[in-house]
Amino acid sequence: MFLKICHLYPQQMSLYGDRGNIITLKYRAEQRNIKIEIQSCLIGEKIEQNTNFIMLGGGQDADQEKILKDLHSRKLEIQDFILNGAVFLGICGGYQLLGAYYETVNQKLEGLNLLNFFTERAKKNEKRIIGNVIAYNENFGELYGFENHGGRTFLQNNNLQALGKIISGGGNNASDLTEGVYSEQGAGLIIGTYLHSFLPKNYKVADHIITKALKINDLDLKEIDNNLEIKNRNFLKLKIK
Ligand code: GLN
Repeated sequence: MFLKICHLYPQQMSLYGDRGNIITLKYRAEQRNIKIEIQSCLIGEKIEQNTNFIMLGGGQDADQEKILKDLHSRKLEIQDFILNGAVFLGICGGYQLLGAYYETVNQKLEGLNLLNFFTERAKKNEKRIIGNVIAYNENFGELYGFENHGGRTFLQNNNLQALGKIISGGGNNASDLTEGVYSEQGAGLIIGTYLHSFLPKNYKVADHIITKALKINDLDLKEIDNNLEIKNRNFLKLKIK
């Protein structure tokens, strides 16, 4: 078993410590003696063969713009990885670029259009959406994280499943109580979310990603000690609610 991770554009797209998602996967894989390799894939570089997890983290508008052309040039490659079983995690700015478009204050950035959603900029009377979030997902329970974004994302049809339902915070658009997106594609999976510190705070999602990327069952993944993670989640629950 081999978890082969690709962090796309770590220089531009890793806002608010999004690299921590990869560190979490590494830790949880190594606890199970699963081999792991991490590629930092820069503009113009090729994603390595047999990659089964790709992360595109958050980014400032200007950084999203910088990587956009290169990202478009690898659309088919990314789709292929996913259809063949890879998991793609898009966080905030990385999530926005998976949809049809993201409208910044200055311009409209065309997204990869892998999923049917779009992201608008805040209207004149609307503020950035900033703060701690709790959302609920049927399989993973409560999801914790923090958000900091200007864009408002709208899922366009009912077939597209949100990652969670907002309990506290803004999520996709601070109006329809959806947070993120969860979409199986062929043998693979796309997860998009506005939550930073996502996998460090949500170990069940991290384990789900590992099992999905390795094409194994949940039960094949050895139990490990989650006491610290649970303590942290309990603390967040008290602090946020
Ligand atoms: N630049 C985007 C926005 O403001 C994404 C920000 C982020 O990745 N945290 O909406």
